[in-house]
Amino acid sequence: MESTTKKKKIALLGSTGSIGKQALDVIRQHPDKFEVEVLTAYSNDELLLKQALEFKPNAVVIVDESKYEALSERLWKENIKTYCGEKSLEDVVQMEGVDLVLTALVGYSGLKPTIAAIEAKKPIALANKETLVVAGDLITDLANKNHVPLLPVDSEHSAIFQCLAGEFHNKIEKIYLTASGGPFRGWTTEQLAGVTKAQALKHPNWEMGAKITIDSATLMNKGLEVIEAKWLFQLESHQIETVVHPQSIIHSVVQFEDGSMKAQMGLPDMKLPIQYAMAYPQRITSDFPRFNFMDYPELTFEKTDQVTFKNLGLAYKALDLGGTAACALNAANEITNAAFLQDKIKFLDIANINEKVMDAASFVKKPSLDDYVNSNTEARRIATEML
Ligand code: NDP
Ligand code: MG
Repeated sequence: MESTTKKKKIALLGSTGSIGKQALDVIRQHPDKFEVEVLTAYSNDELLLKQALEFKPNAVVIVDESKYEALSERLWKENIKTYCGEKSLEDVVQMEGVDLVLTALVGYSGLKPTIAAIEAKKPIALANKETLVVAGDLITDLANKNHVPLLPVDSEHSAIFQCLAGEFHNKIEKIYLTASGGPFRGWTTEQLAGVTKAQALKHPNWEMGAKITIDSATLMNKGLEVIEAKWLFQLESHQIETVVHPQSIIHSVVQFEDGSMKAQMGLPDMKLPIQYAMAYPQRITSDFPRFNFMDYPELTFEKTDQVTFKNLGLAYKALDLGGTAACALNAANEITNAAFLQDKIKFLDIANINEKVMDAASFVKKPSLDDYVNSNTEARRIATEML
């Protein structure tokens, strides 16, 4: 029999990011339950080094090859293996010692490492929603075939997943994904025209990486989450509703066939869904601040505005089209999101260009992995030309 004290060994992809750092906070709080096996960063070698010295993983990956030499020089003395390049992400997740892969890197870059991890039968704690947006059918098929659980980290999806505990035979009528509405809730198109980067980077309730913060301001994030929910919970688009809930206390809701609704609540703190996915199926203790009803005498709800915030409507359109549509939309959005952050385009251009790219991109109804790779490359090229 397996000892109950065996620690779960975590491969943490994107350890220097917002989710990555919070995952390490969780591990710090539970050294008896978790151990770090792998840490990875894109180019932040300083923080990666600091994390490696603290958590003593078996291996680290720095994707940016120019940072490799100095880092490996420093880490070989500690008996920590250092690798570089994108391909190494696919190798380290398959290492024998890894019990769980937490995918917290950003955008399309999560796709291939996630496939590699599933092929090696490693359970996935999935923060990198873009992977499911790009190739949800392929990823979920592969996970089913390999009996690999995809444990959601995104707070809304973790909420749904928690509500479904013990309900696996019961049909879902619909789900409600809650949305804070972002910093521009209630704004008109005219007001949005002049939005600055600094305004868009100020999210009311969550501290996150730059890409998802901009996605939250344009409601693209909610759109990506609608697509993510389709694949995680095998739903049709008409079963997935979004509702603005500015306090971000109800993290999402499931409605069953008898009309009963289950919600998961708590203060907005990503450490909770991260910890839930990491410890699943157990719940473990936490000292995160607790919710107090008296601090929130009112929880309020509003309709999401898909006309002003066009990205959300585009995501539903991509979901209904199926095939490579969502992959192309995601690729376009990675380019426009980054261009807005570099002051190359205006706020409203993000959704406008995303829409044009979706229309212009080629479409494959039943895509293979190569089709997704090509769709991503093509949509990025078209979007870049349109900037
Ligand atoms: P961050 O931008 O804060 O961190 C991204 C991490 O991935 C960093 O470690 C970064 O390394 C690394 N990275 C960036 N680009 C690449 C690349 N091309 N190849 C390999 N590694 C790369 O992102 P977040 O932590 O905010 O988000 C991570 C994922 O989790 C996203 O998919 C996001 O949508 C999702 N998510 C995030 C939430 C949040 O609260 N932040 C909430 C729900 C979901 P480096 O530091 O060296 O650049
Ligand atoms: Mg979310």
